[in-house]
Amino acid sequence: MIAEPNPREELRDLVRSLAERVRTDGELGRTRSYLIRAQCAVEAALTKRPAAATPAGDGQDPLESVREVLGDCRRCLLHRTRHHLVFGEGSPQAELVVVGEAPGAEEDTQGRPFVGSAGQLLTKIISAMGLRREEVYICNVLKCRPPENRDPQPDEIAACEPFLIRQLLAIRPRVICALGTFAAQTLLKSEAPISVLRGRFRSYQGIPLMPTYHPAYLLRNPGAKKQVWEDVQMVMQALQEERR
Ligand code: URA
Repeated sequence: MIAEPNPREELRDLVRSLAERVRTDGELGRTRSYLIRAQCAVEAALTKRPAAATPAGDGQDPLESVREVLGDCRRCLLHRTRHHLVFGEGSPQAELVVVGEAPGAEEDTQGRPFVGSAGQLLTKIISAMGLRREEVYICNVLKCRPPENRDPQPDEIAACEPFLIRQLLAIRPRVICALGTFAAQTLLKSEAPISVLRGRFRSYQGIPLMPTYHPAYLLRNPGAKKQVWEDVQMVMQALQEERR
């Protein structure tokens, strides 16, 4: 007979194995990053969030429901100048969600995220991680292009962020990667610069989140590629550990 799962025992075993991992990782100097991910695992277990992309009661993909509610959005003034709303694309079961800032000119024309020059670099980074672009989910804080690619304004972020939150909770990926200042600051409710936020895991609603530099920044500052590579290696390691 198969024993009934006992959440208390599972949690106790989880905490024991975490304590062991913290001890050995501490010896290897990796405690901080591991502790954040451990905290995420415990938060997720305690709040008993549903598994990723469970179909809604009506059988509809929860991500499609978010898209439907967003509709032909006119919640901020960006709708007046956009050509296409850029919702996001990729697998609804993605283990990794990448969040950028806002669509640029090419994205606005095609209605797809990260298809311009920064997007090509992002696609290369994703394949260097051993993933295909279609396996990952890619979206932005803002769904519409700010004119002349100016910075997102607080009222635009306030109008759009609820949809980003719903996308992230519909997918519930193993890891989130926030690209650049606006994505990192919006998700982490921080005013710290990306140079300070990057390089270690934070918790976003129990999901490990790694902030790193935006690919557009890398195109202007190729010297920062080394740091992005360090950050994405930590993401790869976290994804591999989750699969074990
Ligand atoms: N930059 C972003 O932040 N998002 C895109 O989709 C394209 C460029």
